[in-house]
Amino acid sequence: MPEAKDSNLSGSQQKIVVIGAGIIGVAIARRLVREHEQVLLVDPLAPGFGASFGNAGHIATEQIFPLASPETIRSAPGLLFGKNAPLLIRREYALKIAPWLLKFVWASRPSAFRTGTQALMSLQERSLISIQALCADEEFSDLLHIRGHMIVTESKRSSRALDAKRLLLDRHGMESTWLTPDEVVQRSPHLTSRVAGALLLPRTGHVVNPHRLCTRLHDCYREAGGATLRSRILNVKTLGDGSFELQGSAGRIAARKVILAAGAWSGPLARQLGCAVPLEAERGYHITAEGARSIGVIPIESYERRTIMTSMECGLRITGFVEFGGLDLPPNPRLLEQLKRHLRELAPKLDLGTLTEWMGFRPSLPDHLPVIGAAPANPNAIFAFGHQHLGLTLAGVTADAVAALVAGTTPPIDLRPFRPDRF
Ligand SMILES: Cc1cc2nc3c(=O)[nH]c(=O)nc-3n(C[C@H](O)[C@H](O)[C@H](O)COP(=O)(O)OP(=O)(O)OC[C@H]3O[C@@H](n4cnc5c(N)ncnc54)[C@H](O)[C@@H]3O)c2cc1C
Repeated sequence: MPEAKDSNLSGSQQKIVVIGAGIIGVAIARRLVREHEQVLLVDPLAPGFGASFGNAGHIATEQIFPLASPETIRSAPGLLFGKNAPLLIRREYALKIAPWLLKFVWASRPSAFRTGTQALMSLQERSLISIQALCADEEFSDLLHIRGHMIVTESKRSSRALDAKRLLLDRHGMESTWLTPDEVVQRSPHLTSRVAGALLLPRTGHVVNPHRLCTRLHDCYREAGGATLRSRILNVKTLGDGSFELQGSAGRIAARKVILAAGAWSGPLARQLGCAVPLEAERGYHITAEGARSIGVIPIESYERRTIMTSMECGLRITGFVEFGGLDLPPNPRLLEQLKRHLRELAPKLDLGTLTEWMGFRPSLPDHLPVIGAAPANPNAIFAFGHQHLGLTLAGVTADAVAALVAGTTPPIDLRPFRPDRF
């Protein structure tokens, strides 16, 4: 996408500048114009071309346990070195990621995991209602579906492990139903016959085109009077009265308030705003089979392969993997091949047609909770990033919380666990 070369924004002060037009920034911008705020949304790219472009579209309300957990630490050898290992650390990046991984291990101790679970649950309790409210007009009815999803297993051993997860979800009030292989086939005839069983989670949802969700929300924002500028913010200076001067690739902007929602790229700007946060990119991949559309009406997660398939407007998409390799290394062809193999094995009866490849950057903090809150040194700078595997799911509830912070009212959730200075 070409970047804007010039701007006339240097003269007047913007009331609120939102940095980053991914799903988080766009959701916040849309929410704020609904509250009649004057907003400028700034991104070098058109809306929704970051991580928000290629995700699985899963509204994952069932994910109430942070990935920083005793269970992840116990299973780390298998995750890194087992068959179908879904976790990879690029050799060139091993030293750079080491401090983050140590923080991750610390955040995985049982007491921190319990606190993290409570925090994530507080967001998830409102996630579905908030995203539905954000998408509350008929233009979104073809995009967002609340029909649930299923997690399939391919062995009796995995079925037993998944059943243990079912009991855990049940204890946390998360409804689910066990399906026999025949019931799975009825729902998804094109799925591999190796399925041993499945857990159906009826209260999750999915979006059939995550990129179009961003552009549609952005259209609504523009129709309500919101402004957009193509510019990369390079520097942020805090002025004596607590307002900001932003230096961007398309000129200077004066702003009364700044909302930092630049996903995996937020780290340097957060530091300039007075609060360093240990943000890393968890690289994830997708393959979209443009010829295939009919794996079923709900997303299908594979328990063993740690992938999820969603039938989308653009074809059948499979996503997966966590790769630590920073923002600059090229995509890993081995992981893309592995993902194609999973797709062929999971959907052997489907004609897949052309396969397209994509890699994106999940913005992740070591405790696997997002950062939502004002910068400690200046309440006019609000941080909203680090939504890791759940940015689409948590976009609505994040926008609600940020809108309350902007208005100076009490946020709908306790934001203390998401403080920027918690590390
Ligand atoms: C493979 C994969 C599958 C996933 N599946 C799911 C899923 O099913 N469900 C779910 O809930 N989540 C999922 N996620 C996670 C989700 O996609 C992310 O959490 C979410 O997209 C993050 O949104 P964001 O707006 O914070 O960041 P992004 O979408 O990355 O947007 C950040 C924006 O900031 C802009 N930017 C960067 N630097 C600057 C700057 N200096 N100035 C101005 N703008 C800047 C970028 O250009 C970009 O547009 C998945 C992620 C991946 C990678």
